[in-house]
Amino acid sequence: MLALKDIKSMFLCELKEDLAIEGIEKYRANQIYEWISKGVCSFEEMTNLSIKMRQALQEKYFIYRVKIEKKFVSKRDGTIKYLFSLTDGAMVESVLMKYEYGYSVCISTQAGCKMGCSFCATGKDKFFRNLYPSEMLSQIQEIQNDNNIRISNVVLMGMGEPLDNYDNTVRFLQLVSSEDGMNIGMRHITVSTCGLVDKIYKLAEKKFSVTLSVSLHAPNDRLRDKIMPINKKWKIKDVIEACKYYTKNTGRRVSIEYAMIENFNDSRKDAEDLELILKGILCHVNLIPINSVEGTEFKSSKITKIREFCEILNKKNINTTIRRTLGSDINASCGQLRHRNNFDKGG
Ligand code: SAH
Ligand code: SF4
Repeated sequence: MLALKDIKSMFLCELKEDLAIEGIEKYRANQIYEWISKGVCSFEEMTNLSIKMRQALQEKYFIYRVKIEKKFVSKRDGTIKYLFSLTDGAMVESVLMKYEYGYSVCISTQAGCKMGCSFCATGKDKFFRNLYPSEMLSQIQEIQNDNNIRISNVVLMGMGEPLDNYDNTVRFLQLVSSEDGMNIGMRHITVSTCGLVDKIYKLAEKKFSVTLSVSLHAPNDRLRDKIMPINKKWKIKDVIEACKYYTKNTGRRVSIEYAMIENFNDSRKDAEDLELILKGILCHVNLIPINSVEGTEFKSSKITKIREFCEILNKKNINTTIRRTLGSDINASCGQLRHRNNFDKGG
């Protein structure tokens, strides 16, 4: 038997071509695509198609979906964290956040991660597999349907390293922003990376208007080497060069993530070193109080220290803000929920 095709990962034009081979009219592809974009999980739900056609589709295609396994709602700010299971039982997390401008979701791109950053819950677990574009879309659709809302912003900051799943991530970006599909503009999407330099260059070539967010977390290679294994392969200067190239090609300002770790990367000298690195690139720095993860010794810097750090950078004209931590009562940083679930299972 031929493997079923992943219909949600297809572009409308591909579906049209595919259906034409079966002798199905083009307008049918539009109808099917509309259902798929709404997040239906089966062909039976496509009620404007004949039963015969639904059966024919079922023999050729498969609709990937994600299923809500657990859901945590923050009492503080309404942030909702989802634990989803994939078709093969792999687990990923997503987070829904409400801002003044609308709803934003943080989605996962891999089940697990190979990068092994020492402060990250996802990096502590085994890598399971890459997500398909359809599974990335499904996280957004499931959350929209569960809350009866429309999502306006998407950040690829959940579990996994998006650029380590490059082809699927690129296809997802094209699908989610397509007018035929969910129509969420690229300007409203952020891709976060620990710094896969070769892939940053490749993405820059695409000239998408997505925001690139780089997880830097250290002001020099000596410290970055200690917490991020990727730094053995690509040094900070390589990452910064890639950021410059990204901005040159896309016109987009890069976002620099810097997790504040007590007595590790939070001194006045660290702020000054960071300023020297970032001088001359078009960027915005986000300071994030690090979330303590079970099995790690990292503690967040005190808020006074973070404010001081922020001020030093701003005085030197490096645009810096302190990230508002949403859902802190529900461990809303991605990776923590699945990690805990594995603990619960003794995994
Ligand atoms: N792999 C990508 C995207 C997923 S991680 C990346 O590393 O950028 C999303 C963000 O969460 C990254 O900036 C990552 O460094 C950060 N992060 C991971 N663990 C964290 C923790 N314990 N506290 C605060 N931020 C954390
Ligand atoms: Fe992977 Fe990002 Fe976590 Fe590092 S911080 S282990 S790259 S998910």
